Amino acid sequence: MEMIHKKLGQILNESVLEIRGDGRAGSGLLLTLQSLAGVAVEDPRLYVQEWPFFSSARKGAPTRGFLRLSRKSIEKASGITTPHIAIMMDEGVTKMVDFAEGVQRGGLFILNTPRTPEEAAKKFRLSGRVYTIDGDALAEKFLKKPLGNVSVFALLSSILPGFDFKTAREHLLHHLQKRRLPEALVEANAELFDASLGQSKMADCDFAFPSDHLLPAFQGYGELMPGGQSRLRLSKTHFTSAFARTGFELRFSDPENSCNGCGHCIINCPENIIQFCADEERGVKVTGADVARYCKLCRECIEICPKKLFQEVAV
Ligand code: SF4
Ligand code: SF4
Repeated sequence: MEMIHKKLGQILNESVLEIRGDGRAGSGLLLTLQSLAGVAVEDPRLYVQEWPFFSSARKGAPTRGFLRLSRKSIEKASGITTPHIAIMMDEGVTKMVDFAEGVQRGGLFILNTPRTPEEAAKKFRLSGRVYTIDGDALAEKFLKKPLGNVSVFALLSSILPGFDFKTAREHLLHHLQKRRLPEALVEANAELFDASLGQSKMADCDFAFPSDHLLPAFQGYGELMPGGQSRLRLSKTHFTSAFARTGFELRFSDPENSCNGCGHCIINCPENIIQFCADEERGVKVTGADVARYCKLCRECIEICPKKLFQEVAV
């Protein structure tokens, strides 16, 4: 445990610790990540970013959540593709997604399963440190429902550097109260949290083949968003650049190749005109914008770019 604390602490100090979870709607994955983020923000030295990723989820549909922690400011806002820690909240989800995708050899896996770490690592072909906890069975005892998230939360609270059980417990209960759960149920969750401590099993395993869990090649971001397909946006004669402030133009310049691929400009441009190419190291690299036809100089990209690569210039 000492070694793992040291390794995670080092990542936290020097870069960004990235955690990704996969579960199914109703499995409590997002509550777990929210509660972890709640604990982390108590530490004034930590930067925290947490967000869920799911569609209009019906119960049982796959859900994914991301959590970034660092002692340095976090500039990325993209999904996590190469997590240091991968959480599998529900075995059912493994039929739909590869929860271990992109995890480097020697990464950390947290699994809600009755299997031993060796059995789980063999089944899912994992190489790294594997923790398992039978959260569903524990929850059956206290909640009469197979909801493993509280046990997984307790396990993570014991691994993450700087986390302590007391604060973790308080945050879990706070989030449950916020969801207006009856007091008796909140109390049962607290008992479940306490009973989960020390119930996990851990082993270092090596069952992945080199070709397992590789990231798929970048396929682009898919269709334009609905706003980007409006009649005005597609018009050959009425370009939205006509709405720009007269006498000024947007300039993108990156002479020192400092774009970090955070994607803020791509996501925030209402005209969807930021141009970029795939980049092995950064994911994407911005190369410019389709200024002449569609840039209305809204200044979103200027404001949001952490590297200040966009400017409004007089022409
Ligand atoms: S100013 Fe930037 S964000 Fe706004 S339309 Fe132009 S390129 Fe897009
Ligand atoms: S241009 Fe700026 S905002 Fe856009 S991806 Fe690069 S660093 Fe991020």
